[in-house]
Amino acid sequence: MIDLHTHTDRSDGTASPAQLVDDAKAMGLQALGITDHDTLEGYDIAAPLAAQAGLELICGIELSTRPDPPPDGSRPPSVHLLGYFLQEPASPGFRQWIRGHQESRRERNRKLIAKLNSLGVEITLEEVQVLGKHLTGRPHFAKVLLRKGYVKTNQEAFDRYLADNASASVERDEPELVGGVRRIREGGGLPSLAHPVRLPERDRASLEKLLRTLIDNGLQGLEVYHSEHSPEDTALYKELAAQFQLIETGGTDFHGDNKPSIHLGTGKGNNVSLNYSLLENMRRSVAEMAAR
Ligand code: AMP
Ligand code: ZN
Ligand code: FE
Ligand code: FE
Repeated sequence: MIDLHTHTDRSDGTASPAQLVDDAKAMGLQALGITDHDTLEGYDIAAPLAAQAGLELICGIELSTRPDPPPDGSRPPSVHLLGYFLQEPASPGFRQWIRGHQESRRERNRKLIAKLNSLGVEITLEEVQVLGKHLTGRPHFAKVLLRKGYVKTNQEAFDRYLADNASASVERDEPELVGGVRRIREGGGLPSLAHPVRLPERDRASLEKLLRTLIDNGLQGLEVYHSEHSPEDTALYKELAAQFQLIETGGTDFHGDNKPSIHLGTGKGNNVSLNYSLLENMRRSVAEMAAR
């Protein structure tokens, strides 16, 4: 069994890199991919520990990107891109590039606090940063809002305050979707479109259109397997991957206690089960594509 989509506490997971390596080893995973949001820090810390433990560790990242706005100028929902094998080798510019996003995140967080305060919510950046020590994200804001009784559920925190169109929404300077695909390729990585089930493109025709555009710009993979995919979703994405010669990728999207229903390696109620052959196929396919 393998899991190629996981988060540590270096982004919005709760397990430290060391804890995640221990857990993966303990449950007998043959390979673990760490795909923190916008940072390689979790991977960097885990790498020597995984080597010691004899666990195959895959360097990954998950980038939040924005598609170009539609003609009406509205803000499209963000699209997540996975990048795999980034250190084999990563371009020197890639780390610097993601550091820029980390700064834009910090700026967004400061504005978000100000906006929440202006709405009468008493919250400080320090309170949120205690939870998101390394890379503070909106899920950490949601936890504080919940704890302070401003909302009753995590989802209510997003619906009322934090979601893209909610009352405290702050636009962040995010990388553009197509540019993100190119950057991952330039960084030596395999770009894969994350959890397609969350895309606004729900019907097959609009999905195909999006995939064509992204493939023209270097997309190589599609996250066929994910704990939010129903068996029907998985079947559709498998078909699309075959149709467009996209490499299948997959993982649970483990976030530790921040998403307690998702378990490392096995997903939600055992709905993810990935063989080592998926990883072998990813490696073989990128090598073949590079040789073309
Ligand atoms: P950030 O990277 O700080 O912008 O936060 C993004 C994360 O917030 C996503 O990965 C989701 O876990 C969560 N999130 C964003 N929008 C929503 C929403 N509308 N409802 C629930 N969770 C959301
Ligand atoms: Zn996350
Ligand atoms: Fe994601
Ligand atoms: Fe994720």
